[in-house]
Amino acid sequence: MLEKKLVELKSGKLSPSANLQGFLKKIGESEGKIGAFLEVYEKEAIERAAYLDGKKTKGELYGLVVSIKNNLAFKGHKMTCASKMLENYVAPYSATVVEKLLAQDAIIIGAVNQDEFACGSDCSYSALKETSNPVNIDRVPGGSSGGSGASVAAGFCDLSLGSDTGGSIRCPAAFMGVVGFKPSYGRVSRYGLSDLAMSFDQIGPLSQTVFGAKLAARVISGADERDSTTCGVKPIGETIKQKLPLNAAVPKQFFEGCDKEVSALVKKTIEKLESKGLVNVTEIDLPVLKYAIPIYYLNVFSEFASAMQKFDGMRYGQPWEGSDLISAVSAVRSNNFGPEVKRRILLGTYITTKEFRDAWYTKALKARQLFKSELEKVLADYDLLLGPTMPFAAWKKGQNANNPLAMYLADVLTIPANTAGIPAGSVPIGLTPKEKMPVGLQVMAGWGKDELVLEAMAQAEKIVNA
Ligand code: GLN
Repeated sequence: MLEKKLVELKSGKLSPSANLQGFLKKIGESEGKIGAFLEVYEKEAIERAAYLDGKKTKGELYGLVVSIKNNLAFKGHKMTCASKMLENYVAPYSATVVEKLLAQDAIIIGAVNQDEFACGSDCSYSALKETSNPVNIDRVPGGSSGGSGASVAAGFCDLSLGSDTGGSIRCPAAFMGVVGFKPSYGRVSRYGLSDLAMSFDQIGPLSQTVFGAKLAARVISGADERDSTTCGVKPIGETIKQKLPLNAAVPKQFFEGCDKEVSALVKKTIEKLESKGLVNVTEIDLPVLKYAIPIYYLNVFSEFASAMQKFDGMRYGQPWEGSDLISAVSAVRSNNFGPEVKRRILLGTYITTKEFRDAWYTKALKARQLFKSELEKVLADYDLLLGPTMPFAAWKKGQNANNPLAMYLADVLTIPANTAGIPAGSVPIGLTPKEKMPVGLQVMAGWGKDELVLEAMAQAEKIVNA
């Protein structure tokens, strides 16, 4: 699909303007129902497409239309992080990934919705807009990159960029039946990303196809002197040659607490991969997975609370309201942060205070290290880890509104990859028989083996579509 379109764009059979117009038409028809965008840069996109129409040299994303999560800086454009705190903030520079999209001749069509500051799993924590799942508008789109996934699933763009701290690319991908990929930690520059937790976050693509995810991952990855975590890394390449079948481990814990229909679909796909001789599957026991949730959330709360200190109405955020420093800062923060952001700041501050740090934060750091080494041990013996992306299909809107714990628990299968810094992707494998909602297969591999994950995802995609 996208592969063919790119050939047509590069050969001149399809112009960037015609490609863009198709999407603008769709947005005009159904964005009112979906609510994927916080802002559509219509005029600017039309001008850019017209410029690209006449361009002789053609970049890797020539004429493709891309939406970006609103926690990515795009110079001169609002970067709200879907928070009232940054409702009027205009980015003074562009994120490295945004510069890379533009350098390869993409058209950025707009900024898409997300959970506030990327905290959440169903996009309902956006303070600015509600986004619906295009597959069934009574369902959540998943989060936190809900707008990214919805813009791809609804056919509003060719590609989208999201960010993933604990599943925020893969969850919406699974819930809306598109492809989502979170690269290895450090493989994509985070310069210009307002991250949720800086030792977990990665920027990555969402697309209708694995081809699109691969293409975007290649373009946005590689070393960047403005983000030292990328030091010495290579851009994500095409494919790597590895003898088939790949050795895949399937931890039995991945299916505990998992919806029956989701489990059945994932197991069937894994069996198909095995029967085609693509993977050799071994069921394994990985008891450390039961600690994934507390390890992730304690670390994330701590990093988040610390990073959020800058939103005080002086350095960042809405202007001062109040007569003295304490009341002014507290008024700015209590009036402009939503409940989930406040909860995380409070808990993160509490567990990092001098009195409690050793009991909670230091322990969580040590536990993260152990968790990581347990996963590394498995990935020294196996090429891949396979399982469901989410334990269930997209839930109904409002279902978890007053239940933050249920929301946290939903991330159990996606957060291991971020905790260990390894690459992970979600590929759609069909619909649940009863409610007809999409299900994703999750593929993970050892650090730096992004190409292998993408390759396995491509194989799964082929089998599902055969
Ligand atoms: N749902 C997870 C959380 O709330 C992940 C969010 C993300 O990946 N940004 O922390």
